[in-house]
Amino acid sequence: AIVLGIESSCDETAAALVAIGGPDDADDDRRIIAQRIASQDAEHAPYGGVVPEIAARAHAERVTPLVKAVLEDAGLALSDLDAIAATAGPGLIGGVMVGLVSAKALAMATDVPLIAINHLEGHALSPRLADPELDFPYALLLVSGGHCQILRVDGVGRYTRLATTIDDALGEAFDKTAKILSLGYPGGPAVEKLALQGDPNAVKLPRPLVGSGEPHFSFAGLKSAVMRAKDAQAGSKGVAYSDADIAASFQQAAIECVTDRLRIALDTMPDIPALVVAGGVAANAAMRSALGDFASARGIGFSAPPMALCTDNAAMIAWAGCERLGQSDPLDIMARPRWPLDPDAAPARGAGV
Ligand code: ATP
Ligand code: MG
Ligand code: FE
Repeated sequence: AIVLGIESSCDETAAALVAIGGPDDADDDRRIIAQRIASQDAEHAPYGGVVPEIAARAHAERVTPLVKAVLEDAGLALSDLDAIAATAGPGLIGGVMVGLVSAKALAMATDVPLIAINHLEGHALSPRLADPELDFPYALLLVSGGHCQILRVDGVGRYTRLATTIDDALGEAFDKTAKILSLGYPGGPAVEKLALQGDPNAVKLPRPLVGSGEPHFSFAGLKSAVMRAKDAQAGSKGVAYSDADIAASFQQAAIECVTDRLRIALDTMPDIPALVVAGGVAANAAMRSALGDFASARGIGFSAPPMALCTDNAAMIAWAGCERLGQSDPLDIMARPRWPLDPDAAPARGAGV
C-alpha cells in the first residue's frame, strides 16, 4: 500500500510517499519512496520565530508543487495512492488548514480515503517507520518545539500521558537559549553545535523540578538562569566562561532534567520494555546518547527515529496513515489548533496541552 502524507502545522511544508508491504502486501516492509521538505527558516529568521501569517501563505504556495514533485520523484500517479494522510492539528491553524484542505481536494478528486492525522501522533509513531522491531507498548519522550511530554503508547491511538511541561517545551528552551546567545533561528541545532566546544560544568544552572515526585517538566527557570548567566558574563571583567560554556551547561542541565523526570515516570511502568524519544529535540546527539545510556542502565530497549525524521516532516504523517490504513475521515473534518494525544489526561498545573 502507498500513502501520501502532507505536513503543514508549523514552518515546514512537506509531502512524502511511504509504502508498507511488498507487491502482494504479504510482508511488513516499510519504506519512504519519496519525500520533500520546504523549510521556511529563511522567511521567519528575521523575526526570530515563526510568524503565522507568513507561514500560512508560504504553505499555500508550496504544498501543491511539493505533492506533484514527490509523485514525479516516485514515478507514481494520484491513482496509485491507497490513502491520503494530512496533519489536521495541532498547530498554527492557517497552515494546518492549507495542508488539510489540499488533502481533502485530492481525496475528493481521486476517491482515495482521507486520513486526518494528529501531528503529535506522527511524532509518536515515527520511530516505527525505521525500526520495524519496535512493538507496542513503549514509553515515549515527546520533545519538540511546542510539546514536552512523557506518554505510555499501547497502540495506535492508545496514548496515556504521564507528564507534561508546566511552562515551556524543551525545544522552546533550546530556541530561547539560542536567542540569548544570538545564535539565530531555529536554535536547537545551533546550541548543540556550540555546546560541543564548551564545558558542561562551567556555568551553574538550576535543574527545575528535579527530585520532585511528579514527573512533570519546567524549563522557564532554566531559561531565566541562562539569561542571567549571559548578563553576568557581559557585565563583569575576566569572566571565566564563554558562550560555548553556557550552551554546554544549558544542554547538560536539560539532559539531567529529562532523565530525572523519565526515571520517575518509568518507575510507574515497570512492565514497559522500551524507551522511545521523538520530536525535534530527539535530533540532539547528546540527548540521544544520554537517553540510550539511561535506558540500557535500566535494562530496557531504546529507539529514536533517524535524525531526519525527528524534526517536522511528511514521512511521519504518511507513516501514521499507514498505521491507520483502512480508516478514513469525512471530508468535512475540521482543522484543530489544539488536539491533545490523550484528551482525558489532567493538565499539569497551569499547563496548556
Ligand atoms: P510540535 O511538534 O510540538 O508541534 P514543532 O513541530 O514546531 O512543535 P519540531 O519540528 O518537532 O517542533 O521540533 C522543532 C524543535 O526542535 C525546535 O524547538 C528546535 O530548536 C528543536 N531542535 C531541532 N534540532 C535540535 C537539536 N539538534 N538539538 C536541540 N533541539 C533541536
Ligand atoms: Mg521548523
Ligand atoms: Fe512537530
